[in-house]
Amino acid sequence: MNALDNLPVVVVGAGPTGLAAAAHLHERGLPYTVLEAGDTPGAAVRQWGHVRVFSPWRYNIDPAARRLLDEAGWVAPDPEALPTGAELATAYLQPLAELPQLKPHVRYGARVQAISRLGLDRLRSAGRDTTPFLVRLADGTELLARAVIDASGTWGTPNVLGASGLPARGEADVAAYLEHALPDVLGVDRDRFAGRHTLVVGAGHSAANTLLSLADLAAAEPDTEVTWAIRTATPARTYGGGDADALPARGALGSRLREHVDAGRIRLLTGFWVHALTPAGGRVKVVVRHADGGEESVLVDRAVAATGFRPDHSITSELRLDLDPVLGATRALAPLIDPNEHSCGTVPPHGVDELTHPESGYHAVGMKSYGRAPTFLMATGYQQVRSVVAALAGDWAAARDVQLDLPETGVCTSTAADSATGDSCCASAAEPEPAGRGLATGVTGGLLSLVAVDSASAGGCCAS
Ligand SMILES: Cc1cc2nc3c(=O)[nH]c(=O)nc-3n(C[C@H](O)[C@H](O)[C@H](O)COP(=O)(O)OP(=O)(O)OC[C@H]3O[C@@H](n4cnc5c(N)ncnc54)[C@H](O)[C@@H]3O)c2cc1C
Repeated sequence: MNALDNLPVVVVGAGPTGLAAAAHLHERGLPYTVLEAGDTPGAAVRQWGHVRVFSPWRYNIDPAARRLLDEAGWVAPDPEALPTGAELATAYLQPLAELPQLKPHVRYGARVQAISRLGLDRLRSAGRDTTPFLVRLADGTELLARAVIDASGTWGTPNVLGASGLPARGEADVAAYLEHALPDVLGVDRDRFAGRHTLVVGAGHSAANTLLSLADLAAAEPDTEVTWAIRTATPARTYGGGDADALPARGALGSRLREHVDAGRIRLLTGFWVHALTPAGGRVKVVVRHADGGEESVLVDRAVAATGFRPDHSITSELRLDLDPVLGATRALAPLIDPNEHSCGTVPPHGVDELTHPESGYHAVGMKSYGRAPTFLMATGYQQVRSVVAALAGDWAAARDVQLDLPETGVCTSTAADSATGDSCCASAAEPEPAGRGLATGVTGGLLSLVAVDSASAGGCCAS
């Protein structure tokens, strides 16, 4: 018996992964509190609620959550259907969070500002592992915890527009003209784009999604202009394999985008490294600096940063984390998901061992656990929290019995050059990576790999 035993496990975030952690903690009989910054379960997911995901329902529901929901008479969605983010929130996350087993333990409007050890800063070692965690909220209140499961995601910390990873010169000054990834162009955000000129920066599926919506808007609203900027010399990766793509949805996305570009409805700028942004008469001038030092610029009304996300490690700066210098994931997990190495490899099933830091009792899970790697899948997060919670319950056999309930994936190609941008899955073939158990990765969200598994018995996500 020590000071930790009667304290709750604190879960940060009530997204898909945090609520799955809650379901597992309930099943294990461990006391817990979920702290959610937003006003609802799935607060981040709802912000991209207009986007339809690529993984069908059967991969999007945590098994422990499913057991609790089934007991309560929940009517499960069609396992093969692809929900929107909004449907994910309303048909699954909301009913889950409202179950009587979870509801009293989930606090909304509770933004975690910092996590430390009670009375110990990062320097102090004596008694550290048996000292409670101190969790401070933005409103100043504090909680003690025996362990922390950090499922706070990365949605709140998007990458900047500046090509070097630093904000472009003047980026903060033109914030009023900038858009977070995936604005609802055809819905609530329509007025900001109709009849305006929008620049979309990025080459992943978020960019493609927004560009297609803008092209639809341009067809309906005269004077709507669309420009697309990518860092690479060619958009081939974003276009994918077209009709030859084993994934109809991916092929169609890329083919539609290519048609718009070829027809001149979307203006494409390649080799575009954003250097500076300046306000210019109610618009914004986006300046590009080329390798030879030459500059050019484009004048637009709005700029959408579809440049990916990064984890916020500031809340854990008083904890002893051993982060991979590239991704900001744990060092054990990073080599498995590094997009510099794996454009489309497989992520072996992983759990508490790969998610452990020197700070015992703290685990980042879900989207945040992947750091800057753009390949996270909900199904992976569900396996992570099952394993972490089993370990917290002292059931190490279950904690280490990690497996993903997904079919094996096939082989993929690996190419370092472009994959680190998170832009795409496959391009020119290098040496094939060996087939592995688990999930193919390499596309934003790792989404297409799931569909690839379904639609082509082998091939992972590298069907183009
Ligand atoms: C457009 C899009 C499509 C995707 N499609 C798929 C798909 O098809 N299949 C798939 O498997 N994955 C998909 N993903 C990837 C991933 O599964 C989702 O992003 C998923 O929502 C990640 O779940 P999470 O719980 O880890 O994080 P999030 O859903 O981001 O949840 C984190 C929660 O923590 C809260 N929070 C953040 N900071 C704090 C704080 N300091 N204190 C308290 N609370 C905090 C947030 O408000 C949020 O509710 C997609 C992602 C995006 C963006």
